[in-house]
Amino acid sequence: MQKIDHIGIAVKNLASSILLFEKLLNRSCYKIETVESEAVKTAFFALGNDKLELLESTDPDGIIAKYIAKHGEGVHHIALAVTDIEAEMKRLAEDGFQLLQDRPRPGADHKLVCFLHPKSTNGVLIELCMEKVDG
Ligand code: ZN
Repeated sequence: MQKIDHIGIAVKNLASSILLFEKLLNRSCYKIETVESEAVKTAFFALGNDKLELLESTDPDGIIAKYIAKHGEGVHHIALAVTDIEAEMKRLAEDGFQLLQDRPRPGADHKLVCFLHPKSTNGVLIELCMEKVDG
C-alpha cells in the first residue's frame, strides 16, 4: 500500500453536492466522470496529495443507490493506492481478506480497482486502486 488515494462519499445529487464541496473546499471540482460498469457518476476534488470522490448512482438499483437507501449519504469507501493490484489482491486473499472481485476492473479517474468486503475490514469498504498503465 502506498497511501490514501481518495475518500469516496455517497451523495444523492451530484450537482448540488459539487456546489457544496466547491464552497467547502474553496476550489473547483477537476473531473466529472461516469463509470457505466459501476452505475455511478463521480466528481473529484484534489486536496493536497489526496482526493475526494463524490459518487451519485445512475441507476436506482445501483450500489450507491442501495448504500444510500440503507445508510444515508456519507463516507462510502477509502481508496488505497497500490503499485501492483494483482499482487496485493493475491496477498490479501491469502491473508483471509474477502475480495469483492476476482480481478481488477476499470474504475474512475484512470484506475484499475478492487474492493474488499467491509466484513473483513472492520466495517470499512476499502478500494484498492492502481493507475492504469496505458489507455
Ligand atoms: Zn473510489
